[in-house]
Amino acid sequence: MRDPEDELQELDSAGLRRSLRRLRSAQGPVINTEDSGDLRNFSSNDYLGLADSPFLKQVFAEKVQKYGAGSGASRLVCGTMDAHLALEEEMAAFKRSEAALTFSAGFATATGVIPAICQKDDIVILDKLCHASLIDGARMSGATIRVFPHNDLGKLESHLQWASDQVGQDGRILVVTESVFSMDGDRAPLREIVELKSRFGALLLVDEAHAFGIIGPNGRGLAAEEGLEGQIDFQMGTFSKALGLSGGYVCTSRAFVDLLVNRSRSFIYSTAPAPALAATISEAVRHVRGTDGDALRKQLWENIRFLREDAPSAILPILMGSNEDAMAASTHLLEQRFLVPAIRYPTVPRGTARLRVTVSAAHDRRDVIALRQELDQFQKTALSHP
Ligand SMILES: *Cc1c(COP(=O)(O)O)cnc(C)c1O
Repeated sequence: MRDPEDELQELDSAGLRRSLRRLRSAQGPVINTEDSGDLRNFSSNDYLGLADSPFLKQVFAEKVQKYGAGSGASRLVCGTMDAHLALEEEMAAFKRSEAALTFSAGFATATGVIPAICQKDDIVILDKLCHASLIDGARMSGATIRVFPHNDLGKLESHLQWASDQVGQDGRILVVTESVFSMDGDRAPLREIVELKSRFGALLLVDEAHAFGIIGPNGRGLAAEEGLEGQIDFQMGTFSKALGLSGGYVCTSRAFVDLLVNRSRSFIYSTAPAPALAATISEAVRHVRGTDGDALRKQLWENIRFLREDAPSAILPILMGSNEDAMAASTHLLEQRFLVPAIRYPTVPRGTARLRVTVSAAHDRRDVIALRQELDQFQKTALSHP
């Protein structure tokens, strides 16, 4: 039998072993770590700085008093409370969809939704850079999977052509992409993708994990910015990033939500999220879509532009190539008290190890400028997708 120590040794020698870093402070633009003390944190997805905000902490505390700490059961048993349904109504109204369903995480949303929609005789077509949760969801579905090179519309079209010849009368074709890609920070050509999926009668799922709350009118996402909300069959996202909390959502038709309630295994066989959390998410959505959110988004985008004038999102990758170079750059930044992670295979393709900088509205402008100066020495290669 394999010894786990041998497997760890293999990871070590490939420069791929990862380990956990213990934080002694709350999440924020400056964090206190056990191994390196205070660090200026450019690695979190808490884009609006809400995770440790006085506003959310107060709301959360109040909601715990009102709803209790736990939910007691799965949603289908006796775990569906006012707070869950109110959040789903809030999300459907916000995203202009007929209905919405929420999950305990974005990961559980992807792995719950895709296998509930597609099965053995169906076809799922994914962008090559889709998040692990979307890939796992597609695999779990048992559908035939096709992958197109990142944002390659020509290849997507030929997959769709092939799929529509292949799929049976009742079969489904599901195209899956992200609106902002988590490791590259670039955007999908949503308008063209919508045009293609409509032409071939396919369904489309767009994961807005890194756009929700920070892009589009009221932070509604890239689909809203492009005026495409009504044409995307499944708008998915997470409350774990810009909203500073945790949980996932999908906005779709009433019929699909009812089908998900009946079929989605991560929804059915998992205890409902704490009702206090659901109620806090509702308040966070209202906060983020209003003038407070507008002010935070303005600050965030100013901070982003201080790092890169034409950045399409709050995620700035700096390609290093080898694992060793990426690790050395990350270590150098750590010595300057910047936490900027090196991202390696299997999170990104081999040979494309990189630094991944994420920006927050809560960052001190002076720290952003100081980081920019540090990064200038690395910014030699642009990220490209052959
Ligand atoms: C983070 C992320 C998820 C998972 O969301 P969680 O709420 O963290 O489980 C799903 N999709 C994408 C694109 C993500 O970046």
